[in-house]
Amino acid sequence: MKPVGPIPPGFAAIDGELAIAGRKASDLVAEAGRTPLFVYARERFDARVAELRAALPPRVGINYAVKANPMAEVVAHMAGLVDGFDIASSGELAICQSVGIDPARISFAGPGKRDDELAAAITAGVTLNCESAGELARSLKIAERIGQRPRIAMRVNPSFELKGSGMKMGGGAKPFGIDADKVPDLARHAMAAGAEWRGLHIFTGSQALSAEAIIEAQANVLALAAQLAEEIGEALPKLNMGGGFGIPYFPGDEPLDLARVGAALTERVASLPPALSETELCVELGRYLAGEAGVYLTRVIDRKESHGVTYLVTDGGLHHQLAASGNFGTVVRRNYPSCIATRFGAAAEEEVNIVGCLCTPLDRLADNAAMPRADVGDLVAIFCAGAYGASASPSGFLGHGPAAELLI
Ligand SMILES: *Cc1c(COP(=O)(O)O)cnc(C)c1O
Repeated sequence: MKPVGPIPPGFAAIDGELAIAGRKASDLVAEAGRTPLFVYARERFDARVAELRAALPPRVGINYAVKANPMAEVVAHMAGLVDGFDIASSGELAICQSVGIDPARISFAGPGKRDDELAAAITAGVTLNCESAGELARSLKIAERIGQRPRIAMRVNPSFELKGSGMKMGGGAKPFGIDADKVPDLARHAMAAGAEWRGLHIFTGSQALSAEAIIEAQANVLALAAQLAEEIGEALPKLNMGGGFGIPYFPGDEPLDLARVGAALTERVASLPPALSETELCVELGRYLAGEAGVYLTRVIDRKESHGVTYLVTDGGLHHQLAASGNFGTVVRRNYPSCIATRFGAAAEEEVNIVGCLCTPLDRLADNAAMPRADVGDLVAIFCAGAYGASASPSGFLGHGPAAELLI
């Protein structure tokens, strides 16, 4: 038997079925018209942002990293909740524009921004988080051609990283950001060339559950930002401090102690060095805002035995849920939180392997999991599906096509 991850709090049963925002899984499937289906609940986004607002000092804004869940309706809902948006492509810019988000609230990071993407962002008035000297030079040239003053920030590649981070994106040689020692010269160059100086972006990592690690990374970020501001010789209008707040996915994972992170940041923000005294601060979060708001529902289409092992074969799989299948940056495959949605809360009766419909042994949703008995027609739910699900999985693989998505 292999345990499944912890089901996020706040999910109840109605008539023995998993309910999402008070609505039964089978009713949601009926509304969408099909499985597999991602359901995202507005009230869960709202609650998460409210928790953050209560914990973080008012001075620190909240940005949404659109790549976590770029569904247009989700982005539109976020527009009423968060302060800013971080995008990583002109495709994400188009989504933000399509739902009417003011480009002044958007910043654009990501290595390898094409000229047409830079042009679209400069034209719209989006802040560019420059990732290299070459990208800065191209941005300045494109801005001159367009005849518009570019808003320029620098993404810094810091020499430290977020400890215990699921995905390390700072420290040492990286394709992301500009090495800290090169930032002051480039920043002064950008300003001399007429760019509007927007400050710094320092992202140190992702998916950390340790408050201590996040507190340490934030302290390092603020110290580095102050030092760079002094070297640049110009106040920082804005500092994007990165994020990295993680959510529990696996057995034994404990939720991040947000109150501790908030208390430490409140204290630090109350005594900022002079170089940062007027600086607008923000954190940028993806999965922490969206992950637990989403559930993936897939239907059992076959039940079979092989050498004494019971398989529940579903109509979903890794083409929608690459991370849950264990093929998105994990070394050892562990089970995401999951359940038989049509028997939510029922006692476990058997050990099953829940798999997807793709013709590859990689397509696993839950291994050796203890579940109540499920038959053809039952619904399986995979939790923590609101971030890096639909858009971070190879939906073209094997031709089954994308899942339906529903924001409720
Ligand atoms: C991916 C990414 C994020 C969001 O990461 P989460 O783990 O989803 O919070 C934020 N900022 C940058 C620069 C990123 O690349």
